[in-house]
Amino acid sequence: MAYLSDPKETIAVLQRYHFNFQKKFGQNFLIDSHVIGKIIDAAEIGKDDVVLEIGPGIGTLTQYLCEAAGNVVAVEIDKNLIPILTLDTCKDYENLRVVNADIMKTDIRALLSEYGGRPVKVVANLPYYITTPILMRLLEERLPVKSITVMVQKEVAERMETGPGTKDYGALSLAVQYYAEPYLAANVPANCFMPRPNVGSAVIRLTLHEKPPVTVQDEKLLFSLIRASFNQRRKTLVNGIGNAEGLTYTKEQITEALTALRMSPTVRGEALTLAEFAKLADELGGKETV
Ligand code: SAM
Repeated sequence: MAYLSDPKETIAVLQRYHFNFQKKFGQNFLIDSHVIGKIIDAAEIGKDDVVLEIGPGIGTLTQYLCEAAGNVVAVEIDKNLIPILTLDTCKDYENLRVVNADIMKTDIRALLSEYGGRPVKVVANLPYYITTPILMRLLEERLPVKSITVMVQKEVAERMETGPGTKDYGALSLAVQYYAEPYLAANVPANCFMPRPNVGSAVIRLTLHEKPPVTVQDEKLLFSLIRASFNQRRKTLVNGIGNAEGLTYTKEQITEALTALRMSPTVRGEALTLAEFAKLADELGGKETV
């Protein structure tokens, strides 16, 4: 079996099929076996695992996943890639199922239920144009997913991993950390891809919490408050939440809640931890003005 992590093999496949990269699908294929090794190691894949791969491309990572995992299901949007995967680069893997679909329109729960309820590890070199929607879907839908190990833009990985008081801290950090424990496994330079992306990349693993690290009465309100606080990043939390569409708290109510929690009325969202946002949500819950 010829491994596509050898750039010569990738070029041969691309030429054999006269393949044209589709920019709109975020196609940057991996061409570095060392990086693939790091992804497989970070994901801790074993023969008992079912892996969901999003965007297999020509199958570079897929080959390694099929060799390490029990089963692999790979969802690819680009129909031109399906025959390459199934009739050529991955044809010998009996534990692989390739699905031609848009991951955002796929019933992931139904797809995974075919593997007898076994917990699933998601592994992907994600298309960067759609990274956050894919991750938020995987996290919010409470799918039977154990961990998500993905290549993303370096800047996005940093936003997921960071805590309060840094410039990267925001709604994405809090949402990710509510559902999972992030671990930055590797930084990856642009020359590990074909074609080269014009940003740096990183591999991040999100290990899903069995239950969130904070308890909150109204999860929806928690996320509305978080979004409102970071929509207007340079404003105080009182102004951010007070001016937010869809939230009806008066500035006095927000100031009162902050005072009750011994926080300054001029505090900004970027200073609050997840636990503090949860307390604020509990303090404000049920007090909306209609
Ligand atoms: N896994 C391959 C690799 O590492 O070389 C390809 C990674 S490439 C960055 C992203 C892949 O995701 C492409 O094959 C692209 O066609 C596919 N893709 C883009 N949008 C998608 C979507 N909405 N659903 C499923 N696959 C998608």
